[in-house]
Amino acid sequence: MGEIVLSTENLAYQYPKGSKLHFEDLRIMQQQHTLILGESGSGKSTLLNLIAGFSKPSTGRVTILQQDLYQLQESKLDKFRAQHLGFIFQEAHLLKNLTVSENIKLAQSLAGLPVQEEAIMHVLGKLQLEGLAHRKPNELSRGQVQRVAIARSLINKPALLIADEPTASLDDKNTFLVIELIKALADEQGSTLIISTHDKRLKDEFSTNYQLSAL
Ligand code: ADP
Ligand code: MG
Repeated sequence: MGEIVLSTENLAYQYPKGSKLHFEDLRIMQQQHTLILGESGSGKSTLLNLIAGFSKPSTGRVTILQQDLYQLQESKLDKFRAQHLGFIFQEAHLLKNLTVSENIKLAQSLAGLPVQEEAIMHVLGKLQLEGLAHRKPNELSRGQVQRVAIARSLINKPALLIADEPTASLDDKNTFLVIELIKALADEQGSTLIISTHDKRLKDEFSTNYQLSAL
């Protein structure tokens, strides 16, 4: 059995003026791809932001690869994130003046890694994007744009890939394709997935499901 990639204990988050959200403890082992299921407003984004180190919990602890995330100082946290975590959001947020391959290269250089053209072409191929490396984002379909965001998030081989409703803007066909491609690439390079969705049809695609209850 592999190591524990992520665990949370007693997590709670209080929005100023909002209600307090409590989350059941999570414990995710290497390669244990996990789906966080919940309706709109159930706390998916809040939970993933806590796990990603973007917002400090009111109480509780997040441990990634044996590192207590919120014990790290800001600059160390940024470095830890760049080295070990990848993100996909509902919208892709690609830089529109850069080509597909330039967007991905940027992720490599921001992480302080050498630009590896071959690795980029390999990942693009895996995501069925070969031939599109020199296009700009506005010359791609939505499904293609989201697959570029996946390529960018996985290019640095993060231990944990955190994806917040990555298929929300896609049609049915692209939704299942994107999930299959993310899983295949994550398996190939040893990344563990934690993906949120409101789409119950994705349930059977994951061995581990974690249901957020409605508030
Ligand atoms: P989901 O991603 O599942 O749609 P969220 O994590 O965005 O859910 O929101 C969970 C709850 O927290 C909701 O009740 C939402 O209204 C509340 N919430 C989200 N963001 C804020 C905020 N900035 N201020 C106050 N309440 C918020
Ligand atoms: Mg959300």
